[in-house]
Amino acid sequence: MKTDFDVIIIGGGVVGSAVARELSRYKLGIAVLEKELDVVNGTSGHNTGLLHSGALYEKNSLKMICSMEGNADFDRVAEELDVPFKRCGKLVVGFGDEERERLEKLYQKGLDNGVPGLRMIDHAELKSIEPSADGDFALVVPTAGILCPFTYTIALAENAAMNGAKYFFDHAATGIDRTGDHYTVHTAKGDFTGRWVINCAGLFAYQVSKWLGFGAYEPARVKGEYIILDKRVGKHLIRPVYPTPNIYGDFDVHVTPTIDGNVLVGPTIENIGDKIDYSATQDMIDVLARDGLKMFDYVKREHYIRNYAGVFPTVKNEKGEVEPDFCIQTREDIPNAVNLVGINSPGLTSSLPIARRVVEKIKAQEKLIPNESFDPVRRGIERFAEKSKAEQAELIASDADYGEIFCRCECVTKAEIKKAAHNILGVSTVTGIKYRTRATMGRCQGGYCQTRIAALLQQELGQKKNEIRLKTTGGYMFTGDVK
Ligand SMILES: Cc1cc2nc3c(=O)[nH]c(=O)nc-3n(C[C@H](O)[C@H](O)[C@H](O)COP(=O)(O)OP(=O)(O)OC[C@H]3O[C@@H](n4cnc5c(N)ncnc54)[C@H](O)[C@@H]3O)c2cc1C
Repeated sequence: MKTDFDVIIIGGGVVGSAVARELSRYKLGIAVLEKELDVVNGTSGHNTGLLHSGALYEKNSLKMICSMEGNADFDRVAEELDVPFKRCGKLVVGFGDEERERLEKLYQKGLDNGVPGLRMIDHAELKSIEPSADGDFALVVPTAGILCPFTYTIALAENAAMNGAKYFFDHAATGIDRTGDHYTVHTAKGDFTGRWVINCAGLFAYQVSKWLGFGAYEPARVKGEYIILDKRVGKHLIRPVYPTPNIYGDFDVHVTPTIDGNVLVGPTIENIGDKIDYSATQDMIDVLARDGLKMFDYVKREHYIRNYAGVFPTVKNEKGEVEPDFCIQTREDIPNAVNLVGINSPGLTSSLPIARRVVEKIKAQEKLIPNESFDPVRRGIERFAEKSKAEQAELIASDADYGEIFCRCECVTKAEIKKAAHNILGVSTVTGIKYRTRATMGRCQGGYCQTRIAALLQQELGQKKNEIRLKTTGGYMFTGDVK
């Protein structure tokens, strides 16, 4: 196995994969070291999936600049990478004079940042465009959108891999040594050497930052919990509906339609310090149920299908202050390293602009030779459920596996599961199949298809039963046979 590369990227989430994809435009040997078994097991797979507009952020901050750039570019990117995306806009609703004052401030900030199309509307217009939302008035943010964060991250990674980047899963970096401008990155599976190291480690970027010598950031993480509502209520919500920012400038619980037709209620906001905690708690479910109902009439127990949580990789700097902006750092005394810290929201929206800035930093040090065979286009797995009856019949005629439904709730066929099992990244977990096909994401949450998927993985990849993992390194699904 080759372990000497031009660039070693630590962390293969949406940011690491965007960096890998942008660097694969050049003739470079690129390694992505990822401690998990897939690219969406970190924050990139635990968020809202909103394409932010840039209205919220401080003028000329990296968050503002990168999110606006990412937003403006996204129709093209979604087309190029085959990522489900809808520019549906977003509403921020308010009641009473105090909220009007706060919402007007946000409106002015957005105008000042140059966010196109913002406008205030009254109750009647709000009701006419979003009947299930309520408010005395609302701010319309037409450039916001919704995307599939799983598909987007996977698409960036697959496109990077198509263009030559190598992904190493279950490869946690455990330390870094530098000799001159050459690095050795240690993992439990051996050392990797490279001329450049890019820190894209998300929630653990503070640790990599210390190894590289960029500074002693400390995690000051924030957890957000969600409820996912059944698709049958999805038709009642056209666009995300947010309440007016609270007095601290944060958005309390909001509702967001997903690109696949569910509705997300959340996130809550809870400081958890240096912990990583993805648990769903009754206290927060109660908060989501109470506050979500103010935004959307259908936040009712009978529509809940699942809970999840995400953790924002917020950090404190050496002065003990929370870093408000993305940090994209290089230093003369730490040659050939780019340090990304504090990449919290809107990191999904900003991933490609962040990646382009990383490339610029490398280009400032050395001449990069274009990779003439670079292909920016990546196609995903065709979705049987989204085809017309005639197209479905054609697919079945071409491959009988399209005629066998594996996931009944989401109408995912055996043919799609087989394609997902042979993904270019070599991801082989049951959850990896879920993120690539939507199998197990429906109302029964895998009750019907999860074990069938496990059996197919054995057949397709030659895995033994006791090698099948649900999602994580130690997450083995079976210990043996029963009679
Ligand atoms: C609740 C919530 C909602 C959000 N909503 C939105 C939104 O709607 N829109 C938006 O634009 N942004 C949103 N964000 C922000 C966005 O999700 C993140 O900014 C983005 O996913 C960060 O990507 P990343 O690649 O830096 O992190 P990650 O996806 O966490 O990737 C980092 C990777 O590094 C790996 N890693 C860590 N340490 C090591 C190591 N030592 N060796 C090897 N690998 C390592 C991890 O396993 C992980 O896969 C939200 C965030 C949260 C928490």
